[in-house]
Amino acid sequence: MSDYNWCHGPNCHTNKTQDRIRGVKGSKVLRTRKIAQNQWNKDSVWSVFCSQGCYTDFFYKYWREVIAIAPRLEALETPIEDPVRKQNDYGWFHTEINAIDNN
Ligand SMILES: [Zn+2]
Repeated sequence: MSDYNWCHGPNCHTNKTQDRIRGVKGSKVLRTRKIAQNQWNKDSVWSVFCSQGCYTDFFYKYWREVIAIAPRLEALETPIEDPVRKQNDYGWFHTEINAIDNN
């Protein structure tokens, strides 16, 4: 296993930042960012994406394929107790909703 991954953002190499510039004079490029693997990004999406923007770009480009991995064909439901409408000390109302712990 390598100690780095390339960023998977489909547009990473088009972002005009100084750290992406590579190559010799007269033959410069903007290159996809390399992501060092460490204890903070280990086993997370940040081991393959350099930024929130690249993460979002990937999902916008491949969302159909991603959804196909785990399609939601039925709604999920969380059993709750009957909701209780409450007023706090400042007069604001809120509805207290408690999930039923069915473990
Ligand atoms: Zn990136």
